[in-house]
Amino acid sequence: MALRIENNYPLKAHNSFGMDVLADRFVEYSAEDELREALSLASGWNAPLLHIGAGCNLLFCGDYHGTVLHSAIKSFDVLERNDDSVLVRAGSGIDWDEFVQKCIGEGFFGLENLSGIPGEVGSSAVQNIGAYGVEVCERIERVEVLDVESGQKRVFAADECAYGYRDSIFKRPDHKHYIVLAVCYRLSTVFEPVLTYAPLSLMNPESLTANDIRNEVLSLRNSKLPDPAVLGNAGSFFMNPVVAVSKARSLASEYPDMPQYPATDGFVKLSAAWMIDRCGWKGRSMGQAGVYERQPLVLVNLGGASGEEVLALAHAVIDSVYEKFGVYLRPEVNAIHS
Ligand SMILES: Cc1cc2nc3c(=O)[nH]c(=O)nc-3n(C[C@H](O)[C@H](O)[C@H](O)COP(=O)(O)OP(=O)(O)OC[C@H]3O[C@@H](n4cnc5c(N)ncnc54)[C@H](O)[C@@H]3O)c2cc1C
Repeated sequence: MALRIENNYPLKAHNSFGMDVLADRFVEYSAEDELREALSLASGWNAPLLHIGAGCNLLFCGDYHGTVLHSAIKSFDVLERNDDSVLVRAGSGIDWDEFVQKCIGEGFFGLENLSGIPGEVGSSAVQNIGAYGVEVCERIERVEVLDVESGQKRVFAADECAYGYRDSIFKRPDHKHYIVLAVCYRLSTVFEPVLTYAPLSLMNPESLTANDIRNEVLSLRNSKLPDPAVLGNAGSFFMNPVVAVSKARSLASEYPDMPQYPATDGFVKLSAAWMIDRCGWKGRSMGQAGVYERQPLVLVNLGGASGEEVLALAHAVIDSVYEKFGVYLRPEVNAIHS
């Protein structure tokens, strides 16, 4: 397929908030050599570059005056098979949920708890997506990237990716020059359900299949999260904050019903949703931006909101949580200004 280049291109269908903004240029490639060709053209355009996936974790705060790159690399290869696992290499442009479904269909397990997360394979390795007791980094063996600065291809082993809660080395400003081409996942050919997350722990592990988990996860997600096609949103707008044990103890004595979860040594994870709810934000709105009434972690576009309106609401939420609990909420969503 040839490189696709569009000027003054509408991004509304490329971001789940449904922001009606334009990119000066939109370039879609479907192979590594096309990406190289795109980058060589872009070096003459002298404008900023932004690589997007499906735009499910982005908030465009206006038109993008630069070049938006998008991968349509959709290869799917089994690189290795052994007694109980396979190594699958997936192109960055594959829709994440189609990939999960295909893996289950092939008898490759380990991703079923991540069913229904909107986005693409490339971003899964950038964002370290997670849900229902599983983080994708547990299954990533290596990530193949193109270095925009050197033009060289490079392979990152999972332990070089600095994976953490919704975090990776690829999110750091000094690593933004890496474009993910493909991700290699180590998947099990023996199904072992992960039922640690509360709603799934009610499932009977006997005779359970990966499709049972997938269906349960999809139905839980549908009951809790707004469908971006109906109500623009980017999933959880805020990350759950991680605080020192001493801070968690003092909050627990003031708010005995505050949910707290163990994190790494000396730290405790708090529920951002609980704190936002306690500040009275659930279902409230500012202009056309709102806090979703069924899940206060999610900010929604009530219709025609601008990115700046959503950001103003986010800052108001952050300020009030800080004032009440002394805890700073960090946004999970990437705000794009240009
Ligand atoms: C309704 C809803 C529910 C959600 N639920 C969850 C959930 O349960 N768990 C969870 O973890 N997330 C969740 N999210 C957030 C979102 O789905 C994930 O962050 C997802 O990985 C975003 O994928 P994307 O392809 O849309 O990436 P984008 O939003 O387009 O991009 C995300 C980041 O990745 C970078 N990027 C994208 N592609 C590449 C590439 N090929 N190379 C280098 N960088 C790249 C972008 O520059 C950006 O920094 C949810 C979102 C929505 C809308």
